Amino acid sequence: MRRLLILAGLLIVGGLAIVTVGTGSRLSAQQAEARVIDTEEVRDNLFVLRGGGGNTAAFIGPHGVTLVDTKIPGWGQTLLDSVSALTDRPVTTLINTHSHFDHVGGNPELPVDIQIVAHENSAANMLEMRPVTGFGPQNMTFEGDRGMPTDTFTDRFTLGGGDARIELYYFGRAHTNGDIWVVFPSLSVMHGGDAFSGKNLPIMDANNGGSALEFPATLRKVIDAIEVETIITGHSTLMTMDDLREYADFTLEFLGAMRAAKAAGQSAEEAAESWTPSARFEGYAVPEARLLANVQTLFSELP
Ligand SMILES: [Zn+2]
Repeated sequence: MRRLLILAGLLIVGGLAIVTVGTGSRLSAQQAEARVIDTEEVRDNLFVLRGGGGNTAAFIGPHGVTLVDTKIPGWGQTLLDSVSALTDRPVTTLINTHSHFDHVGGNPELPVDIQIVAHENSAANMLEMRPVTGFGPQNMTFEGDRGMPTDTFTDRFTLGGGDARIELYYFGRAHTNGDIWVVFPSLSVMHGGDAFSGKNLPIMDANNGGSALEFPATLRKVIDAIEVETIITGHSTLMTMDDLREYADFTLEFLGAMRAAKAAGQSAEEAAESWTPSARFEGYAVPEARLLANVQTLFSELP
């Protein structure tokens, strides 16, 4: 794997030092001050750009670059600089996996004339930028059309052709109600956004249409429909379909345990306090506040 380290300026941004990202981890002081993007080569023409929020994918196509997600606000130019280190071709297309600030934050900082594709529910969520359930305010809004999607879809969307074809799928509610799965068929790679942010209890953001009840079934649909060698996660390392299957089982175990807890008359607080994932899922991060928020979301969804 070729790894490039892009140091793009030494700006200290007010407030950024305490920004938390979707996995619940904190940006390091170095990242906050220096805006470091770490580039990992996934294929000859597909890269993961890490740092400053969610994992961005950069696909170098024959006519231009397609990005998947744009990190937290203020990181757009750093992102463009890191792409410039890979290719002379311009960024022509952006895909947003969902509407959260740590995935769409740089949208308004990209060139004005690019195509921006998102699920129709994400486009609607981006008009509001409501707080993330169990996390907090998103502290960003879009001004006018700048950085907003130019193209939306319901179930399926195709970009490009031949080896540069990109397929976008929507399989239902999970992390939000607009999570899309971005597949590069010629490369056997998929970007899963935060519906698969890594091996952790995911945020189930009811404020933005997410569902604890439907999350496992949505993942099952992905597993049944798609086969790739490599998955780019929302915030973690590269993973495989086996990892996704394990993670789907994890969300199903959570659902089953909490369903039983509610049936037994436990409160959301009691259910959250008493839950320990089975040994198979050792190492999965389960942030306390997120767990309680997810249980509350599920209990409100269950009859
Ligand atoms: Zn997210």
